Amino acid sequence: MKSKIENPSVLTLRDLESWSFPGTALAVLGQPIKHSISPALHNAALAELAQTDTRFRDWRYFRFEVAPADLPRALPLLHAKQFHGLNLTVPHKVLALEHVREIEPAAREVGAINTLLWTDAGWRGHNTDGYGLAHGLRADLRRELHGNHILLLGAGGAARGAAVECLRQGCASLSIANRTAENLRTLLAALAPLAGDIPLRGFAPEAPPADLPAEAIVINATSAGLRPDDPLPIPLSSLARPAAVYDMIYNPPQTALLRTATQLRIPTANGLSMLVHQGAKALEIWTGIPADRLAPTMAAAANAALAR
Ligand code: NDP
Repeated sequence: MKSKIENPSVLTLRDLESWSFPGTALAVLGQPIKHSISPALHNAALAELAQTDTRFRDWRYFRFEVAPADLPRALPLLHAKQFHGLNLTVPHKVLALEHVREIEPAAREVGAINTLLWTDAGWRGHNTDGYGLAHGLRADLRRELHGNHILLLGAGGAARGAAVECLRQGCASLSIANRTAENLRTLLAALAPLAGDIPLRGFAPEAPPADLPAEAIVINATSAGLRPDDPLPIPLSSLARPAAVYDMIYNPPQTALLRTATQLRIPTANGLSMLVHQGAKALEIWTGIPADRLAPTMAAAANAALAR
């Protein structure tokens, strides 16, 4: 156990049953989890905090491989072992809703949680992905969701979080494209009550309507681009000139969508800044230290981890 704690390898529920870490533990749960760079980001920020604040000297962030079927057992066990906070990644963000004591109202609107805080009564669920997206866009592209036309690609969990954040922040309009029409319809129905006066529409990605607004921010929240032979999630050159393209994918750092946008001289950024800022907000929830203060160290650690 000791060597596994010193070496941030992948832990399992079996490690948890004999858990004896004497400090304050944080962790990310997912499946697969070995690709996750979250431990590098969080442990770098914690190490820096510990230099000036002794409260954080024994804080460590771990990663656990947890299958969906094991989540109902893992969450009470992690609570009993007094883990101070958890991040949840694929495939747990929706499944976990049923297993927490309390859900922050904004996370309830998204219908998914990615950050849990230990409380006496049980886990409290938050969602920091929308914050991460908004701050990533600002950091990398100097763009705001507020007042801008958004063209969102995808209708899965990440797209839903992004769409709710766009509407909450008062985007000028939200147009959503998705490969499977049924999934798009379900998402639009869930968003309709939140849209108010903001124009909300859906379309098929292979046939973008001619009247889509120009100068829109295109946000890719599909998985198209994770593999080198994936198709473009939208024929970018057929859109009225977008203002910027943000791809939530960060590994690979350059997707075909981003390469195409660069050829068209459209400013681009990948999802690393979103990962960093959602992580910084989670660490703020756990430590009380403002996310803006944590983000630069986490960004440097993220770049170093991906370069390895
Ligand atoms: P989901 O599985 O919930 O949704 C996947 C979405 O991608 C669906 O809309 C699906 O469309 C679409 N899709 C999948 N394959 C293709 C394809 N070949 N062509 C077109 N569309 C496709 O995944 P998530 O929403 O959780 O994640 C989506 C992406 O966002 C992932 O790449 C993930 O890594 C990234 N992400 C990044 C984060 C960050 O911090 N940077 C945070 C969260 C997610 P359909 O409905 O037709 O199946």
